[in-house]
Amino acid sequence: MIYKNYGNTDMKVSAIGFGAMRYDDSDVRAGNYEKCAEVALYAHQQGINYFDTAPHYCMDKSEAITGIALKQLPRESFFVSTKANFGTLLGDGKPTKDNFRRRLETSLTRLGTDYIDFYHLWCIKNLDEFGKLYEQTYAFYEEAMKEGLIRNIVFSSHMPGEQLETVINAHNFRGMLIGYNALNYRFRQSGIAAAYEKGMGIVVMNPLGGGLIARNADRFAYLSAGSELTVPQAALRFVASHREISVTLAGFTTKAQVDDGIIAVRDLVEKPAAVICDEQPSTGESINDMCTGCGYCDSCPVGIQIPKFMDAYNMVLLGDSFQNRLAWHWDVTADEAGECTGCGHCEGLCTQHLPIKERLAHIAG
Ligand code: SF4
Ligand code: SF4
Repeated sequence: MIYKNYGNTDMKVSAIGFGAMRYDDSDVRAGNYEKCAEVALYAHQQGINYFDTAPHYCMDKSEAITGIALKQLPRESFFVSTKANFGTLLGDGKPTKDNFRRRLETSLTRLGTDYIDFYHLWCIKNLDEFGKLYEQTYAFYEEAMKEGLIRNIVFSSHMPGEQLETVINAHNFRGMLIGYNALNYRFRQSGIAAAYEKGMGIVVMNPLGGGLIARNADRFAYLSAGSELTVPQAALRFVASHREISVTLAGFTTKAQVDDGIIAVRDLVEKPAAVICDEQPSTGESINDMCTGCGYCDSCPVGIQIPKFMDAYNMVLLGDSFQNRLAWHWDVTADEAGECTGCGHCEGLCTQHLPIKERLAHIAG
């Protein structure tokens, strides 16, 4: 296993992390928690030392299952990361210190630990949401940190690069968790650069595009060209090879998938993100009809946030639906796509020569 420094700290984290959101569904439903925990224990044996869980994952059993494994391990041999989300904290409509504490204490108990290494402000989709969450809860995080219950305050977000940059520059988080993969990597470059510059740790979720890359291996075959890696292994390696990225989280269900993760970073060569971006034009012809997130089109006179809609349309090209993407990754609604006047300004700018108007019309329905 390759270990990297978490940002500019001396914490040595495994290049591949254990994403504890994919424990075997039937085992979770059947209450076979010990069996699920064996996968986490196996990952630790193979050198993985970063475990990322959260309330609600795996029918709200992920923290408890991960805890079964972690309780059997020396505390100093792993880092554990979990989260407190806005919804969970809302309680009577406003996050309170009490329900923050209840959330944190529940996580500590489930994980069987005295402290959480990385505690996240969770699932921030836009700057408004971030501002509200920060204002209403950050003091609770700081207090818990002073008490030694949290080691590092971090945030997780689906915001595009410039918004990440705004948060990074205005605040002092130790690290961030972002979705990043061979499909969307251009969307977050400025955020990655800003975090690295500031010495923050960067952890990546969703390196396989929520399974889309594996399910569409033909389109992404260019990632593994010239190597003996499978496409999913190559997609993990693509992310892990970024010098700026500390941990690439993979959601493991089986021990064989853990082995895939280990193979993906064997003899890993790290490179700066800028070099990787230059080397990945719209590489294979296979993704030439997809939006790369370059942002060149983003000056619509009526304010349509085109790159977000085109990213969602990528899901259509990959045989999935755009609705989930809009709902969970971007703060725009399908109706907004219907505001397009058809002026064509964006299509003249698109580096991929995409039929943006037609795709917006499809989304608007
Ligand atoms: S064609 Fe539509 S989306 Fe593109 S710039 Fe004009 S109004 Fe905006
Ligand atoms: S210019 Fe084209 S490829 Fe780039 S973000 Fe806009 S739609 Fe996507």
